Amino acid sequence: MPERKTYIVEHLDPELGQWSELEYAAIARETQRSGNTFMLSSLPAEFRVPDKLAEIPAFKAETRGVEDIYGTDELKARVCLLDPQAEKDLNPDDKREFDVFLFGGILGDDPPRDRTSELRKKGFKGRRLGPVQMTTDTAVRVTRMVVEEQFTLNKIPYTDFPELKFNEHESTQMPFRYVKDDDGNPIMPEGMVDLIKKDADKSIDDLF
Ligand code: SAM
Repeated sequence: MPERKTYIVEHLDPELGQWSELEYAAIARETQRSGNTFMLSSLPAEFRVPDKLAEIPAFKAETRGVEDIYGTDELKARVCLLDPQAEKDLNPDDKREFDVFLFGGILGDDPPRDRTSELRKKGFKGRRLGPVQMTTDTAVRVTRMVVEEQFTLNKIPYTDFPELKFNEHESTQMPFRYVKDDDGNPIMPEGMVDLIKKDADKSIDDLF
């Protein structure tokens, strides 16, 4: 019987934007494939789960925060916070130490504002995924590769700060680390490239 893992993103932004929705749907689909659970915790009571997420059986919506779900020291010790400032990097043996992997539900920012500190303060054990900031879905993907597929962090194929080319004249550089697919392209949630292009067009329109 394989060991089941739970991946939790603690919702820390005031609302769920389109970008996060695409990231969370990608995490839910990939978690479904590996037979594990993806939970979005600390959701406001009035939160309406988008259909895209609700239809994936691996997905669970939770209004309680991680501190309440894993309230005792014994339960808390099995939770690993993926923390860009942790002293120790995640390694394949952590599969035995932890059942739950916790991520900050925060959009990436450049430079990073260390909002993961909101979870660090709660006293969970932390592990880093290397020195470069990843998007939340990439951080979950990399964690799954280390824990479930037993990759060491340095064996994962990454692409850092990739440039997305929309056409001959338009491109944008993403300030994050991604996992690379077999063609060398960054793995991104379905619909993300279109959303980034739309946002880029909008900021250009806003200039006029
Ligand atoms: N700029 C952010 C901050 O303020 O902390 C990082 C946000 S990142 C987009 C979202 C989450 O992915 C983080 O809270 C963390 O759980 C995880 N994450 C991203 N890159 C990571 C890394 N290099 N090491 C560990 N966790 C990482």
